[in-house]
Amino acid sequence: MTAKIEVIPIETDVLIIGGGLAGCMAAIKAAEKDVSVTIAEKADTRASGCAGTGVDHIWAYIPPVHEKMGYTIEDIIESHTKGIANGFIDQELLHLIVRESYNRILDLENFGLNFRFEDSKAPGKFRVVTQFHSAPTTLNFDGRDLKVNLTREARKRGVRIINRVNMVELLTSLDGHILGALGVGTRDGKIYHFKTNAVVTSTGRVNRLSRSLTGVWGNTRVPINETGDGRAMAFRAGLPIINMEFLSNAMYSIGNFELNLGSPRNTVQPAAAVVDGKGDILVPRTQFYDWDNPGEKREVSAGHGERPDYFALQDQGKGPFYLDLTGGTEEEIGYIEWSIRNEGKGSYFLDYLKNQEHFDFRTDKLEWLPNSREMAGTASSGLVVDKDLETGIKGLFAAGDEVGGLPWVCAPGAVTTGWHAGEMAAKEAMNRKSFQDIENDKPDALVSLCEGMYHNEDGLHWREVEIAVQNIIDHYAGKVRAEEMLLRAIDRLSDIEKNVTFRAENPHELGRCLEVKSVIENAGMVLRASVERKESRKMPFGFYRADYPESNDKDFFVFLAQTLKEGRVEFNKIGIKKIDENNIGS
Ligand SMILES: Cc1cc2nc3c(=O)[nH]c(=O)nc-3n(C[C@H](O)[C@H](O)[C@H](O)COP(=O)(O)OP(=O)(O)OC[C@H]3O[C@@H](n4cnc5c(N)ncnc54)[C@H](O)[C@@H]3O)c2cc1C
Repeated sequence: MTAKIEVIPIETDVLIIGGGLAGCMAAIKAAEKDVSVTIAEKADTRASGCAGTGVDHIWAYIPPVHEKMGYTIEDIIESHTKGIANGFIDQELLHLIVRESYNRILDLENFGLNFRFEDSKAPGKFRVVTQFHSAPTTLNFDGRDLKVNLTREARKRGVRIINRVNMVELLTSLDGHILGALGVGTRDGKIYHFKTNAVVTSTGRVNRLSRSLTGVWGNTRVPINETGDGRAMAFRAGLPIINMEFLSNAMYSIGNFELNLGSPRNTVQPAAAVVDGKGDILVPRTQFYDWDNPGEKREVSAGHGERPDYFALQDQGKGPFYLDLTGGTEEEIGYIEWSIRNEGKGSYFLDYLKNQEHFDFRTDKLEWLPNSREMAGTASSGLVVDKDLETGIKGLFAAGDEVGGLPWVCAPGAVTTGWHAGEMAAKEAMNRKSFQDIENDKPDALVSLCEGMYHNEDGLHWREVEIAVQNIIDHYAGKVRAEEMLLRAIDRLSDIEKNVTFRAENPHELGRCLEVKSVIENAGMVLRASVERKESRKMPFGFYRADYPESNDKDFFVFLAQTLKEGRVEFNKIGIKKIDENNIGS
């Protein structure tokens, strides 16, 4: 037994849960109003989240470039909807992202990030390349210090940042308002009890549902501390969570050092091609856009959709595969190395390659290996929000990768939805100035749960439980799924849920135990949603049911929502929103 855990009460008008890209933007915007703003972050906002060590590219509708070329906001929405999301996207929210993306880039520029380059021939001196869309919309920039700068800007505006707090519970009133949230300090083991009038939840993606392919714990593209806590908290609070079935299959990338070099269109373009062991080209290299001639709208090939099925090729005895930059000019290779340095984990990767492997892109090819499965790329799972990012709980907003129904909106999605959610949360908090007392047992229950884990002799170490859950997901809900296998997985997972107790020796382990509880809840959502989607949906969703091999748009061109009601999970289908011309913001 340990001494009773200390509970720290904190009042704040606006609480941001998760200080990643979206959370920091939300805090900065909310702090413009006359409200107190606090970020509760599990790691440290200076380097946390998917953008923690930088992003090198961000797509946007860039008026100085696109107006000149004849592209409209609607063209980019159409290109993203058709070319990237296969129609499976909330167009109302996509409209917000596309129309606000350039404004947010100008904000990032004001926060000290460099987007303009003297050698660029593109309008605005931007470095613009083709990645996602039929028009070149991706800005390459000096994004390595993104989180450092955002943290500085948030602090400058009086935002209180509390790092190393793992948020685990939302507190709501009986009439469906947000009243607060609870978290546990991962260093000090204290319980943080926030009372608030508006919350933005932005805890990012869901990692650790599946084993890392390299066998090294934590060697995954998505940060290890993103364990779907936001989805789990919202689910327990009675909110619908959508599209959880789209846990990806493994993809090919730089396998033994999982980072984000792309497919290979983003960070390593234009010189990168993918070749097989015989040197035959599987994905050809691209070219820099011809900015001497930008004044016309024209179709150029977008990167996605051109990705070969490497696993199918491997089944035919093909491979190994290599990322091949050897045909690149000095200028192109210099450009790519600069991009890699600004991309997530890229600096470390480049230093490792150069200093330890003595690797040279001019002469060496980089082997292209499978990456771990993740709930990320499509990023279409998450919370249901309205066009102002508000959830079904009044005063609870969601932003960034936490929002469902938005495949591949990535950093532009995070900065735009974060900003808007922050603004809306501040407005909500200004309307409700006093803090309501929370008359429920959740704070005490959390204290008991945590105390119960300390030195629980019969309890399991969090890692044992995590491996058991990952085994279930990988064995029963792998690349191809089927009803009987999924139902067996649900049985086995519920055994774990009912019977396992955790043992923690210190606050750090306590945090890990709470994360694994979250992983279990997310795994349950993945399995149940996989049973419910009785069809197959190909890339970029990669959802294959052996017992329902065809796509069934008639019944399943919808977001599948699961909601907890009186201890039972209910499913319903949410129609995919098209743009309502009369009802969009400006
Ligand atoms: C390696 C990598 C490189 C990428 N590069 C690009 C790129 O170049 N361009 C691009 O457009 N996109 C890129 N992306 C995607 C992009 O970074 C994300 O879409 C974006 O960061 C999402 O922002 P977010 O705020 O929703 O989540 P994140 O930025 O991931 O932030 C989530 C935050 O929540 C915190 N958190 C989680 N759980 C809790 C909890 N329980 N309590 C408190 N805090 C919590 C996390 O620590 C984290 O700080 C990349 C992704 C990866 C993984």
